[in-house]
Amino acid sequence: MTPDPSSVEAFFSQNTSTPIEQLFLPETQDSGVNLWLKRDDLVHDRVSGNKFRKLKYNALHACETGNTRLLSFGGAYSNHIYALAALGAALGFETVGLIRGEELDGDNPTLAFAQQCGMKLHFISRDEYRRKTNPEFIEKLRMQLGDFYLIPEGGTNDKAIRGCAELSREIRSQIDADFLCVACGTGGTIAGLITGADVKTRVLGYPALKGADFLTDEVQSLIPDDNATIWELVHDYHFGGYARINKQLVDFMRIFHQQSGVQLDPIYTAKMLFGVIDMIKNGFFPEGSDVVAIHTGGLQGLDGKRQEMARFLGEL
Ligand SMILES: *Cc1c(COP(=O)(O)O)cnc(C)c1O
Repeated sequence: MTPDPSSVEAFFSQNTSTPIEQLFLPETQDSGVNLWLKRDDLVHDRVSGNKFRKLKYNALHACETGNTRLLSFGGAYSNHIYALAALGAALGFETVGLIRGEELDGDNPTLAFAQQCGMKLHFISRDEYRRKTNPEFIEKLRMQLGDFYLIPEGGTNDKAIRGCAELSREIRSQIDADFLCVACGTGGTIAGLITGADVKTRVLGYPALKGADFLTDEVQSLIPDDNATIWELVHDYHFGGYARINKQLVDFMRIFHQQSGVQLDPIYTAKMLFGVIDMIKNGFFPEGSDVVAIHTGGLQGLDGKRQEMARFLGEL
């Protein structure tokens, strides 16, 4: 099976509008702020959330230009690698994943799934991984592995921005938001949201990385120069760094799940929502504001964290 544009188109148009739900939480009920959750985690069960949005125009472009093989980069627990592998299996693309860490063997839930989907994994050293945008390195990969359509780490490129701008416009058609809140890794998703947002909507990004000062310039470089939407990054809720968790975060996830019925992921969405709720309690948002937090999915990341989470909950 080789993918054709019409089946790629059909795959991405099957779920064009995910719901926005109001959250009624005891902690925020007296704040006068309306908190909403854009349930983009529901966009697809395996090509989840923002990765679906980011892959859409990449997959279309790849197949329009006759590429049947998609190659990308990621860490051992990467939501992007997981989503790319699932997309390949669903649409008939070959997929190749270059995974950071030459000592790894693919024995974790994320990489096991990717391999089941048919993704070919290559484990590379951290030094090599750092060269992931270097043209000579990419050329060397082409010599070794044959031709491919390159999707950068996290899926972030101009086509990803286009897909996430579409998400922003979808939200605009559903609600007149004063604030959009989103978790950030590479910054591609927030750049797309800013690109597609109404000028009166402020966009807040919550980096999952500690010391992500580079991200401001990165996001700026990804959005149009004349974009007038006000946005900022909130650096206070990384919980010690990328993929770091603690008891406070795990307790928050459990209580949020009980109160809202919605499961969050510990790497991105739980930290972002913890931050949004904390800022509501601190009076950051004016009374009467409609604050939309975006559930960008990534629940597969729970599998790699279950043991650590159970330890914090006293279950182990
Ligand atoms: C990848 C991911 C992000 C980060 O997206 P960027 O575009 O890299 O900033 C946020 N949330 C979830 C759930 C993700 O999987």
